[in-house]
Amino acid sequence: MNLVLLGPPGAGKGTQAVRIARECNLSHLSSGDILREERKSKTELGQAAQEYMDRGDLVPDNLIIEMMMDRIANLRGFDGFLLDGFPRTRVQSEGLDSRLKAAGESLDAVISIEVDEDRLVERLTGRLYCPSCGRTYHLTFSPPARAGICDHCGDALIRRKDDSPEVVRQRLATYKEQTRPLVAYYGDRGLLRTVSGVGEIDTVTQRIKEACQA
Ligand code: AMP
Repeated sequence: MNLVLLGPPGAGKGTQAVRIARECNLSHLSSGDILREERKSKTELGQAAQEYMDRGDLVPDNLIIEMMMDRIANLRGFDGFLLDGFPRTRVQSEGLDSRLKAAGESLDAVISIEVDEDRLVERLTGRLYCPSCGRTYHLTFSPPARAGICDHCGDALIRRKDDSPEVVRQRLATYKEQTRPLVAYYGDRGLLRTVSGVGEIDTVTQRIKEACQA
């Protein structure tokens, strides 16, 4: 099964993707996580992406398409993939479609996770991130057991630079302008399933699983 999780920053795509990927034996490919790894390793791509990410803008399509298609082409031992954060523009969607088609593959469903904007801002600006293992916490909704320390690896948590209020506003504006139109794009192709991202994490996971089977 090949899936895309679509939704604004803060909709819970990352949290849900980890769960769905584990249960369905899919490879979880998060473009944001891959870019953060590339930055940490100071690769050419990581350095090229840095300024866009810190501003809350999108990294150029050609770089992202190559990066993601390379990961998809090298999958082994999974029953498909789950894309999280990609595609994010019309050009990326078309690139993904044509490259999958050339490889004899296709998407099975695109799940759009819907959350209202006030809630997104609240979620994003309270978010804490572990730079070592990538786990995320929230100051109010899912705080770590010890303030500022990752439960899993004991390292100090940070706030992502792009989770500051100004950059969050920019990321949401970018989403509305460039990514939201993909809902209609996939709707036209009969692939779209919409679920509410508001409620308990388990409840949202269940909604996504049901949507995948619909
Ligand atoms: P995320 O963790 O998904 O919110 O991504 C963090 C940042 O990485 C975004 O604000 C963009 O700057 C960049 N990024 C992630 N995925 C993409 C993509 N598909 N296209 C362009 N830029 C991306």
